[in-house]
Amino acid sequence: MAYLGSPSATKEVINKYRFAFQKKYGQNFLIDSNVLKSIVDAAEITKDDFVLEIGPGIGTMTQYLCEAAGQVVAVEIDRMLIPILQDTLSEYDNVEIMNQDVLKVDIKSLAQQKNGGKPIKVVANLPYYITTPIIMSLFESEVPIESITIMVQKEVADRMQTGPGSKDYGALSLAVQYYAEVKVMFHVSASCFMPKPNVDSAVIKLTRHTRPPVEVQNEKLMFQIIRASFNQRRKTLVNGLKNSMELNFSKDEIVEAVHGIGKAETIRGEALTLEEFAELSNQFMKYQNQIS
Ligand code: SAM
Repeated sequence: MAYLGSPSATKEVINKYRFAFQKKYGQNFLIDSNVLKSIVDAAEITKDDFVLEIGPGIGTMTQYLCEAAGQVVAVEIDRMLIPILQDTLSEYDNVEIMNQDVLKVDIKSLAQQKNGGKPIKVVANLPYYITTPIIMSLFESEVPIESITIMVQKEVADRMQTGPGSKDYGALSLAVQYYAEVKVMFHVSASCFMPKPNVDSAVIKLTRHTRPPVEVQNEKLMFQIIRASFNQRRKTLVNGLKNSMELNFSKDEIVEAVHGIGKAETIRGEALTLEEFAELSNQFMKYQNQIS
């Protein structure tokens, strides 16, 4: 099978199988071979690597991944794409296609079974609707991850890199910065996809930190505090934490903790850096018995 990364090769496969694009699955297939090569280069894949590809589509990027990696598992939700993948990837004996919703796959045990628990690389041209849940679940469920190289909406890439003072700053920025080094590798224009999406995209690489950049005594508590702060971002930090369903601290305790990191009672959560959220959650550790 020839490479699929061109408009004519993609059309040929689509026509052969009478495939109908499903908007609900975010199906915009890459049709530019330079972009495909650049993604695989950015992921720095070698024959020692186990790669998880999320959403292979018709197998366009999977072909390049199979050539570069030792082993590839490609998880695709749309069952109509499975016979197509079996055809387009028939030349490769190092790929396994799984017909599943990636959000329901136990990736930690997959990495254990297929790669002996060694860190895996994730590569994906992600459906935009699952970008945040998949990134959060990969990091929070202790999957052994070396890096995640993914295509995301340009605005999401900006959100991951930003800090206090930007409207894009939020829980995703903080989680990603806590777990990984974030690098925007390059931008991709909408014309590199079929059908053409109405947003521009960027490829980002998240390389997992060997040690988090801040000292946190209770990670779960820090992320509960972060979520509570941004759920009500127009409110003060004190009110955001007081109103949270996940936290049980009294207003006095919250005010004391906020003062403990040298901030005024009127500050908003969106003004705090990752380091300050870490310090704040450490302040709450003295109320151990109220932490779930
Ligand atoms: N990798 C292909 C490419 O670059 O041409 C296709 C990328 S397309 C943006 C996203 C792919 O993810 C589609 O094939 C879609 O069916 C699949 N997908 C969507 N939601 C998914 C989910 N929850 N689990 C697994 N695959 C999913």
